[in-house]
Amino acid sequence: MDHEDLRHWSKRAADWAADYHAGLRDRPVRAPLVPGAVAASLPTQPPEAPEPIAQIFEDFERIVPPGMTHWQHPRFFAYFPANAAPASILAEQLVNAMACQGMIWQTSPAATEVEQVMITWLREALGLPESFTGTLHDSATTATLSAVLTMREQALGFEGILKGLSGQPRLRLYASAETHSSVDKAAQLSGIGQENLVKVATDDSLSMSPQALEAAIKTDLAAGYRPAGVVLCAGGTSVGAFDRIKDCIAVAKSHGLPVHVDAAWAGSAMICPEYRALWDGIEGADSVIFNPHKWLGAQFDCAVQFLRDPGPQVRTLGLRPSYLETAGREEIVNFNEWTVPLGRRFRALKIWFLLRAYGLEGLRARIRNHVTWAEEACEALRALPGLSIVTEPRLSLFTFALKDDIATEALLQRINDEGRIYLTQTRHKGRFVIRVQVGQFDCSQSDVQEIALAVQRHLTP
Ligand SMILES: *Cc1c(COP(=O)(O)O)cnc(C)c1O
Repeated sequence: MDHEDLRHWSKRAADWAADYHAGLRDRPVRAPLVPGAVAASLPTQPPEAPEPIAQIFEDFERIVPPGMTHWQHPRFFAYFPANAAPASILAEQLVNAMACQGMIWQTSPAATEVEQVMITWLREALGLPESFTGTLHDSATTATLSAVLTMREQALGFEGILKGLSGQPRLRLYASAETHSSVDKAAQLSGIGQENLVKVATDDSLSMSPQALEAAIKTDLAAGYRPAGVVLCAGGTSVGAFDRIKDCIAVAKSHGLPVHVDAAWAGSAMICPEYRALWDGIEGADSVIFNPHKWLGAQFDCAVQFLRDPGPQVRTLGLRPSYLETAGREEIVNFNEWTVPLGRRFRALKIWFLLRAYGLEGLRARIRNHVTWAEEACEALRALPGLSIVTEPRLSLFTFALKDDIATEALLQRINDEGRIYLTQTRHKGRFVIRVQVGQFDCSQSDVQEIALAVQRHLTP
């Protein structure tokens, strides 16, 4: 296959994609297959001789889509969304064609400069102060790891990156139990250690208690630990919890600790000014992560980390070997020094296309609809017999359950086996609960109304 063949087959792929998206509502949302079925339909050995693309394409159509869970399905209400607005798919096609490396400015100047401008656009869109700059990562997990590595180095006076961790003071990190497991992973990978991630108590509304944070830091100081930083949650993955950002930042700052805020999901909603009270005080954070690939509509992967001062993170993660030097151009930004990997995709292009093709008003209208329709779905479920709402909607996420865990789990299984809608579970205060989130880019009010219909259909076995 050469580039002339690619011209033909990309058109074919574009047609396939349009038909795929047009037909999504007729497919089951979750793959109905049994484990191993897809693997069993592939040959066990790689081909020695080239095969015609027509054959490969045909096998793709036969084997792959039926084995997929359809994240762009308008009745996908599981996990959190991983959206791909058409304009962002188009941008990704162009990026694929150029297949550039944006590790330093001169390896792809436009990739670096569009990224810088998009960080500014998003900062404006979210109402963050002008003092924030930032960078793109693949995922929130990597951004949180970067922030925690930076906290470690700030606490160690940047000695960890030189001397290693042996003989250093024992560091402590603070987060509530509602924060995402990526914070646990960051504690593990940074060498701080899971046992030194203090899970600070939450109050009745699942927000980290500033008093408990203060007490935890004081206890640790008295015991000879060295606190390194606080990770706050703005829209937890389980049930959408929000910490009291302003009060917790005040506690952290009184001890000179840096604060990273995880708003991976809920950050997108902050393009709507009326939701910003949920993260009141955000301007005091040192680092904020949000994923435009979740609710905003940018194709996966795309995570934005806003930074009050990139200096400490660049000092922690940045390296400039001689083969990456850009002679005499000290004013330029080399984004690889801000992030873990050296190689970087051109992720900013899809943000540019997304924001221009829909406008902030178009994106706000979608998010507002999702919140309203989730509230409607919550009321429709509340009216069903034997079912209770366990956590009320936070933005577009709520949870419900039947009387006992076994019945709830069986209900979820029946709903997902049918495939009309797709929901997933979490544990809340020890209880098995079903999560409902509304956020798929193309979903309509009637798609969301299918939630209550499906639950009702399967309420009794
Ligand atoms: C999804 C999510 C993450 C992890 O995001 P990735 O980009 O997949 O690493 C972290 N925190 C929260 C609150 C999330 O919702």
